[in-house]
Amino acid sequence: MQAHYDCIIIGAGHNGLVCGAILARRGKRVLIVEASTSVGGPAATHEFAPGFRASTAHLMHLMPRSLITALGLEQHGLQFAANGMATTSLSPSGNHLLLTPESVAAASPVDAEAYPAFLTRMTRLAGALRPMLASVPPRLGTDAWSDRIALLKLGWQIRRLGRKDMRELLRIIGMNAYDLCTDYLKAPLLQGALAFDATLGGNLGPRAPGTVLPWLVRLAMQGADGNVGLAQPVGGMGGLSDALARAAKAAGAEVRTGVRVDRVLVADDRVTGVVLSSGESYLAPVVVSNADPKTTFIDLLGPEHLDTEFVRRVDRARSKGVVAKLHLALDRLPAFANLPESALRGRLLLAPSLTYVERAFDAPKYGEYSAAPAMEITVPTVNDPSLAPAGSHVLSAVVECAAYDLRAGWTEQRDAYQALLIDQLEGLAPGLRSSVRAAELLTPVDLEARYGNRGGHWHHADLALDQFYFVRPVAGAAQYSTPVAGLFLCGAATHPGGGVAGENGRLAAQAVLAKAV
Ligand SMILES: Cc1cc2nc3c(=O)[nH]c(=O)nc-3n(C[C@H](O)[C@H](O)[C@H](O)COP(=O)(O)OP(=O)(O)OC[C@H]3O[C@@H](n4cnc5c(N)ncnc54)[C@H](O)[C@@H]3O)c2cc1C
Repeated sequence: MQAHYDCIIIGAGHNGLVCGAILARRGKRVLIVEASTSVGGPAATHEFAPGFRASTAHLMHLMPRSLITALGLEQHGLQFAANGMATTSLSPSGNHLLLTPESVAAASPVDAEAYPAFLTRMTRLAGALRPMLASVPPRLGTDAWSDRIALLKLGWQIRRLGRKDMRELLRIIGMNAYDLCTDYLKAPLLQGALAFDATLGGNLGPRAPGTVLPWLVRLAMQGADGNVGLAQPVGGMGGLSDALARAAKAAGAEVRTGVRVDRVLVADDRVTGVVLSSGESYLAPVVVSNADPKTTFIDLLGPEHLDTEFVRRVDRARSKGVVAKLHLALDRLPAFANLPESALRGRLLLAPSLTYVERAFDAPKYGEYSAAPAMEITVPTVNDPSLAPAGSHVLSAVVECAAYDLRAGWTEQRDAYQALLIDQLEGLAPGLRSSVRAAELLTPVDLEARYGNRGGHWHHADLALDQFYFVRPVAGAAQYSTPVAGLFLCGAATHPGGGVAGENGRLAAQAVLAKAV
């Protein structure tokens, strides 16, 4: 006897868990199947050296408070070791800049008024996009009133900004982050930090057109009511994902880890279930894939169920990641030169100028890794000592930029790259190298292998104008539904993109409930 469900979800990344929890709360019989032994994808906590734990995705800042509350995540164990974390822009010369209006004013009088005004204006412009980010994209060119109304609402949100701000939004939305930063701000450390955030996780450097858009998306999500700012869950990001899994189970969903889906079953042009690598099969009229589009359509479904043009679009979607991750097990707290210890409670950015960030993005274009990488560094054990043995610490660094398809080969270059990164950190925190007890480097190729998303991309598919909203990840699959009846997507490649936000999972559940079950 094969077990029957209303819905099977492939993957227990945070979006798969959100989607499953919502569907289960609506009374659906849900099975969530995860290939890894833990839930959360990169938003899990793992032991990378005996007694030392880290999360690949290390900061939570995008998930709306309304979703945390709706799923009762705090009742299911989510706690914060820190929230509203500050950002310091590191300078190799030691003149670091804490990104608060007061510190910016003290360090760069010319930005004293411009910086807060810039943030206020950009937050307001981004706010006009918020309703769009929190709803299923309309289909273009249909006669359906729901699609027309959604388009009208979007136009109205932008019109409501008033003539001046509406013009500014339309001017900057397709623009590059480099020009936006130089238009408004002067201090290189400030410009570099903003350019870093605008391009984080993407494939394009700050001079590439369209790099303002992902930054506006980030601002819009961070600006949602009750957002906790940059935050660190207790136990790392696994604390969030475990709470999501508990919420899904409490609502009645089954969560099975350590089992891979091998194939999506199709009969008469609609999905009927999945086959696992163990050979077991489960039946359901709805299958929601948390995996990336290439894995979903090419590997699990099979191109024979799709038309050639759609397969071509999926194949062409840009999904090669340029982000690497470094975890260091340290036997003492790193001492960054000229930086107060309190700054280690927040995040540190190594992005000292626009040109520095731009140059870092040059390397992957030529199949290389940057010799002067930009980094987002946290020392999570300062806020949460449970992540390492007493007195020891973890350093967690998101590193940009390293080519997925490194010309010299990752097997050959891994040690040299790791040594380069540690050298870079030693330059900022003298003595750090001698405190390293163990290191874990995850290159884009390792990220692909570990989290099963082709290309190892932060957003599963680049978040750029040509892969946004109506056409994310590709035309024909931009409303979470796909050309095959009953098959849906809910992962980071869908609208509104990657990051640990949960919106993709929530909107996919909404699309499933509207269409299929
Ligand atoms: C190095 C790095 C650092 C990051 N840091 C941050 C950060 O600090 N903050 C932030 O907000 N975002 C961060 N991100 C981005 C964020 O981690 C992702 O965008 C997010 O995790 C995507 O979530 P998801 O649920 O859509 O997909 P995923 O988390 O990728 O989940 C997909 C799941 O599907 C499973 N799966 C795939 N195929 C199968 C199969 N055949 N059978 C069963 N299961 C399958 C995978 O194992 C995986 O668990 C980072 C990303 C990277 C790569």
